[in-house]
Amino acid sequence: MPTLNDIRSTFLNYFDKQGHEVVASSPLVPRNDPTLMFVNSGMVQFKNLFTGVETRDYQRATTAQKCVRAGGKHNDLDNVGYTARHHTFFEMLGNFSFGDYFKPEAIPFAWELITKEFGIDKNRLLATVYHTDEEAFEIWKKVGVPEDRIIRIATSDNFWQMGPTGPCGPCTEIFYDHGDHIWGGPPGSPEEDGDRFIEIWNIVFMQNEQFEDGSMVKLDMQSIDTGMGLERIGALLQGSHDNYDTDLFKTLIEASANATNVDPYGDQNVHHRVIADHLRSTSFLIADGVMPSNDGRGYVLRRIMRRAMRHAHLLGAKDPVMHRLVPTLVQLMGAQYSELGQAQALIEETLLLEETRFKQTLDRGLKLLDDEVANLPEGAALDGDAAFKLYDTYGFPLDLTQDALREKGRIVDTDGFDAAMAEQKAKARAAWSGSGEAADLVVWFDVLDTAGATDFLGYDTEKAEGQV
Ligand code: ATP
Ligand code: MG
Ligand code: MG
Ligand code: MG
Repeated sequence: MPTLNDIRSTFLNYFDKQGHEVVASSPLVPRNDPTLMFVNSGMVQFKNLFTGVETRDYQRATTAQKCVRAGGKHNDLDNVGYTARHHTFFEMLGNFSFGDYFKPEAIPFAWELITKEFGIDKNRLLATVYHTDEEAFEIWKKVGVPEDRIIRIATSDNFWQMGPTGPCGPCTEIFYDHGDHIWGGPPGSPEEDGDRFIEIWNIVFMQNEQFEDGSMVKLDMQSIDTGMGLERIGALLQGSHDNYDTDLFKTLIEASANATNVDPYGDQNVHHRVIADHLRSTSFLIADGVMPSNDGRGYVLRRIMRRAMRHAHLLGAKDPVMHRLVPTLVQLMGAQYSELGQAQALIEETLLLEETRFKQTLDRGLKLLDDEVANLPEGAALDGDAAFKLYDTYGFPLDLTQDALREKGRIVDTDGFDAAMAEQKAKARAAWSGSGEAADLVVWFDVLDTAGATDFLGYDTEKAEGQV
C-alpha cells in the first residue's frame, strides 16, 4: 500500500515526465500578497504567471503545496472533527500550465494518472463540469466517462476563485464514489456534503481575472491550475474514504493516544483527530515564521492552538500535550519539508508555553461555560456578555466558545458579543483620555479605529482577509 510520501512522489514524477518543472512548495505566508491570509492552494505562488505580469523559463510546473484553510474565502476550521475529508493544513498536489496546454491535455493527464498510474477503478469516478462548458463535457466523453457520470453544475463550486480578487475560471472536478455504505449523494444533490462522494481533484481553466470593484475580465492567456488533496487521494489508495485513516494520520492519532492515554479509536476519537490536524497546521505555521499573537495571522494560529488544547483537555490531559507530538510529525514529514526539523525546538517551545499559559484559564473558563449553559433556557443562545467574559478574562477566542457550544447544540449571540467588545473599547478609551496619560497613547486608539480593530481581525476572518 503506497504511503502519502510515495503518492506525492508518484504525482510529481508523472508530471515531471510530462515536461513539468518540479517546483518546491512556497511558504504558507504569501509573499507580497495582502489579499490573502495564508496560502490556500497551489496556484498562489504562480498568481502573476496566470495574469501574464511575470514570466519564467518554464511554462509547465508541478508542486506539492502546503496549504492552510482557516480563514477567508476557503475556511475549513469548522469542518475539522466533523467531516472525513477536511483539514486546516493539507498538501495540494498540482500541475500548472501558464499559457501552454489547456483543456484537451489537462483532462487526459488527470485521467491517465488516476486510472493508470494509481489504478483507480473507472466505474467509481464521476466528473463535474461548469454548466456552460460543453468543451469539457465532450473531452470527458472522449476519455471514456459515460454521459450519466458527467454532471453539469451551475454554482460557484465549478467556478474557482482563490479569494475576492485574482485569476479565476470555470473548473471541472473529479469525484470518487466510496459506496452506498457511506451516507452522501453525488455532486449537485442535496446530500453532496456527505462522505460517500468525495471530491478528489479540481482542474481549473484559468481564463479570467476578478478585480476589487467586482468586474471580471478575460485574460489573454488560457492556463491550467489543478489541485488534488494528497490526504484524500491517499485515503482512497489506502482503501478508505476517511483522510484520518491514512498512514500519516494514524501515526499522529496514535501519538496523541499515547500522550493522553486514551484509546485512539474509541468514542474519544474525534478529539485525537482534531489534535492531529491542528498539530500539523500549528507546526507548519510556526516553521514558516508565524507566532501566536493577538491579531492578524498570529491570532488565527493562536485560535487553532487553543482549539487543540481544549480537545486535549477533553481527553483528560493534565499537563501540556501538543509539544510532545512534534517529534512524530517531524519524523513523518521532515524529509519533504526540512523547515519542520529546523524549527522543531521553536515549535515545541512555543506550544509548551502557549499551552502552559492557556491551561491556567482553560479549566475555569470551561466551568463557567458549563454553568452558563446549564442555566440557559431550552434552545437559547449563550448571551454576548458571557462569551465576551470568556474572551476577555479567560482567553477564549470566540470561535473556541462556538466550537465548544456546537457539541451541545448551542450557539453564541454574536451581536451581543460585538456590542460587549465595543463597549469595553469605549470604556478603555474614556479611561485613557481622562487619565492625563501622554497624548500618544490616546492617539493609539485612533490608529486602531482607522486601521481596523485588530482584536476583531483574528476571529472574523472575512473581515481580516484583505486587511492583513
Ligand atoms: P470541498 O468541496 O471538499 O470542501 P473544495 O472544493 O473546497 O473541496 P478546492 O478548492 O477545489 O476544494 O481544492 C482542490 C482540492 O484540494 C480538493 O479537490 C481536495 O482534494 C483538496 N482539499 C480542499 N480543501 C481541503 C481540506 N480542507 N483538506 C484536505 N484537502 C482539501
Ligand atoms: Mg471546501
Ligand atoms: Mg468542492
Ligand atoms: Mg473544489
